[in-house]
Amino acid sequence: MIIIDGSEGEGGGQIVRNACALSLVTGQPFRIVNARARREKPGLMRQHVTAIEAAAAIGNAGVEGAMVGSDAFTFTPGTVVPGTYHFAVGTAGSTGLVLQTVLMPLLLAGGPSHLILEGGTHNMMAPPFEFIANAFLPVIRRMGARVEMRLVRHGFYPRGGGRIEVDIYPAPLVPIDCLDRGALLRVSGAALFAGLPADIAARELATARKLLPDWPEDAFALRQLPEACGPGNILLLEAAFEHGAEVVAGFGRLGVSAESLARTAAQRMAGFLASDAFAGPYLADQLLLPFALAGSGTFTTVKPSQHSLTAADVIGRFLPVRPQFVQQADGTHRMMLN
Ligand code: AMP
Repeated sequence: MIIIDGSEGEGGGQIVRNACALSLVTGQPFRIVNARARREKPGLMRQHVTAIEAAAAIGNAGVEGAMVGSDAFTFTPGTVVPGTYHFAVGTAGSTGLVLQTVLMPLLLAGGPSHLILEGGTHNMMAPPFEFIANAFLPVIRRMGARVEMRLVRHGFYPRGGGRIEVDIYPAPLVPIDCLDRGALLRVSGAALFAGLPADIAARELATARKLLPDWPEDAFALRQLPEACGPGNILLLEAAFEHGAEVVAGFGRLGVSAESLARTAAQRMAGFLASDAFAGPYLADQLLLPFALAGSGTFTTVKPSQHSLTAADVIGRFLPVRPQFVQQADGTHRMMLN
């Protein structure tokens, strides 16, 4: 039994999700103690329990102690069975994080799967739909897998009610090298809003435009969603390169001005554009699992985040390879498996 101390490293829900995925793929049971000990509200939250339940459902796993608020649970994997699965993530838990939990086990399963995920599609501290679709999945496809994903309905915190559907066609993961992102092909900035004044989104775009002066005026667009999806707001800044993409999100929320969230997002995008890295900080932590499962391969990224370092530790507990980051002369960090 692998024992993981959830208070070590970054200490968030990602440890839980990666451990479930790795357990299903390798057949090794694990126990997490001190789950999310470093978070403001420690213990499992609804969305972590849903992720564990989703992993248990696709992998016929035995789970003990995984309740909202609990700080320890045991997961004993069974056989992953591909098929059609419907998971509802409570009010506005992130559908993307549930997908993060079950995608790799289903990609390595014996047949295709269809997932219907309901909950939040654009949640803070989680990958928004566009990030998964435009930054993460293209890399997974380059590794040989076929995954199609549709956004049926937007879901924002706290209302939720969003829906995504995912088709997964298994294939062995082929190692790839992502050292060069290639030339910048397209940029776009979209301010999505639902049930809120359009002025909020307009101010976000105006701020982002000022800080990204090279981006053409017609790259920026307001997008009004049906009132029923709201209230909700997100600014999405996307840069597509020949071999990869970055999607930076600014999540609208009470108490943070439109200008301030747009400034943070635009500065993060400008920082990424100024570097030569293939993967941004979030993409880097999310690519570790598929690269480790492929057994080799490498990518460059910006300075590795705590999430990346913690994910590397968890991977090293289950697999014979362990991701490492080595700084390059150009300032990027190269992920290598050893
Ligand atoms: P945790 O905080 O441990 O629950 O993990 C959060 C996960 O969501 C990590 O895999 C992050 O890479 C991912 N994530 C958080 N914010 C974003 C964002 N703005 N864009 C893309 N991915 C994100």
